[in-house]
Amino acid sequence: MSDDASLRERAAKVVPGGMYGHLNAAIFAPGYPQFFVRGDGCRQWDADGREYVDLMCSWGPVVLGHRHPAVEAAAAAQRADGDCLNGPGPVMVELAELMVDMIPSADWVMFSKNGTDATTQALMVARAATGRATVLVAHGAYHGADPWCTPSPAGTTASDRADLVEFTYNDLASAEAAAAQAGDDVAAIIVTPFKHDSFEDQEPADPAFARGLRALADRLGAALVIDDVRAGFRLDLRGSWESLGVRPDLTAWSKAMANGYAIAAVTGADALRGPAQTLYSTGSFWFSAVPMAAAKATIETLRDIDGPALMERAGTRLRDGLAAQAAAHGFTVAQTGPVQIPWLSFAGDATLEKAMYWSEQCLAEGVYLHPWHNWFLSAAHTDADIDRALQGTDAAFARLRAKFAGD
Ligand code: PMP
Repeated sequence: MSDDASLRERAAKVVPGGMYGHLNAAIFAPGYPQFFVRGDGCRQWDADGREYVDLMCSWGPVVLGHRHPAVEAAAAAQRADGDCLNGPGPVMVELAELMVDMIPSADWVMFSKNGTDATTQALMVARAATGRATVLVAHGAYHGADPWCTPSPAGTTASDRADLVEFTYNDLASAEAAAAQAGDDVAAIIVTPFKHDSFEDQEPADPAFARGLRALADRLGAALVIDDVRAGFRLDLRGSWESLGVRPDLTAWSKAMANGYAIAAVTGADALRGPAQTLYSTGSFWFSAVPMAAAKATIETLRDIDGPALMERAGTRLRDGLAAQAAAHGFTVAQTGPVQIPWLSFAGDATLEKAMYWSEQCLAEGVYLHPWHNWFLSAAHTDADIDRALQGTDAAFARLRAKFAGD
């Protein structure tokens, strides 16, 4: 029995389902390993010792490559002094200053651990500021795993979601209609910077939609909240809608903020500083200094090396290579999303039969990507790494062609 198989067998006895949540390999495609033992740069090794070019980056957190020296050095230096103390370290102030300097919409920062903490906290700030309850949210958007936002209704009650009114991404009229339905009770509009729902081709935000949401929030006296948890620190270090000229009142950050260390943040505009201060929103580990030191080193490094541009270069090379391979093997594919956060789907593959088979073949060729969730690149992906990945994807396309010979 492989190490992965025996770990699964043991886990099944002591962990519900053996594994749960977004890293549960049983929900990807057959053959995906569950357990990983090591990461280095843009490579990961599973419990059976197989090496992969990592095109998932741990679902987003790893943005500079696994075990990046500057981040590890900063974390180690802080760890030598202490991590979880009776109060935050000076590094909290340094990190907040760095973020306020870098992010034009940020006048202040509140820290927590996970993206869900940040989206939830942002809504609390908006509700504290407005004294209202309703939040407008795009249908199908993922904002985390708390009862108000988890995609599965298991363990939640109707009242957990009673204050949400849905609109359709990129459809301003639907957001206006949702606002009308909510009357004078809208506390916030929460939106991701592009549409990145699982199982679907990704969609950039229509600039008119983004500007329209800003105007709608202003008209309602509600907060515009950008959920930059997935896209933040990969596309634009200033915030993912800054290039559209749309500034949020509040932004939720996490994933790539500390290259894999556990930290999240809400940044906000001055007008919301007072309401933010009134919240009782905290956690035993929210002020640990090691992840803050890692975040500071990560953000400084991303700034100094222009991380988003490096990821754009790697992502463009990957996208061009995949497009040529798909065409050569006679497949029509859609490659969607920013190149730093890419995804590929096959035309006419509603059952995901092709996506599942192709991703399994990629896995067998040492390329770790995902059949129905977007992928993530890091600044550690060199041209040679992308070329190595493309070698694997090409072999996978060839096997897919053999299996779907008539298509
Ligand atoms: N918002 C978005 C857009 C996300 O992609 C995620 C995580 N996939 C979250 C919120 C929740 O983050 P976390 O899993 O760290 O709670």
